[in-house]
This record gives sequence, structure tokens and C-alpha cells, in this order.
Amino acid sequence: MGCPGPDVFHELVAGRLPHGERETIADHAGSCDECRAVLGALFDVEPEKVDRYTIAKRIGAGAMGTVYEAHDPELDRKVAIKVLQGKEASGSSGGDGY
Ligand SMILES: [Zn+2]
Repeated sequence: MGCPGPDVFHELVAGRLPHGERETIADHAGSCDECRAVLGALFDVEPEKVDRYTIAKRIGAGAMGTVYEAHDPELDRKVAIKVLQGKEASGSSGGDGY
């Protein structure tokens, strides 16, 4: 197969691709420098800080957005925040109530 288009990469990052397609792209990227570079760039754009929270790790992703485990320096505790697709942070009022 040829290189997946930008739409495919977008869906991949958004977590909307079916498992089989993700594998196909991973396979392809393994032997295609161009796509490997694209994937690297895409997954590097994950935020490390959202508002005052420091992102620890990603714990989930869905159609609505991505859920991160983060540290709240004001309360000095762990929180879970959700980052909606195509938007800035939206988890500041929700804290860990997901
Ligand atoms: Zn390729």
C-alpha cells in the first residue's frame, strides 16, 4: 500500500481508527521514513502542561478527547484532566471527576 493520507493520520491521532488500520500504519511506518517522521511529529505535540497542571501521562483517548493523568501543584495531588479535540484545556473545573 502507499502512504496513508493526512486524514488517516488525523484519525489515528484522534484515536478513531479501528485496530486493524492502526496496525497497518504501524507496519508501513516501520519501513517508510517519511511516515515515521510524520507520526513522530504528530505524537510529539501532546501537551506537557495544561493550565497549571503538569501532564504525567496519557491514560485514555476517545472520540471526545484525550484524558491525561496530571499533577495539580496548587492542591499537590493527582488529577485527571480531559483535553478536547481541537481545543485548549477544558478540565480545570472538573478536577478528577471523570
Ligand atoms: Zn509512507
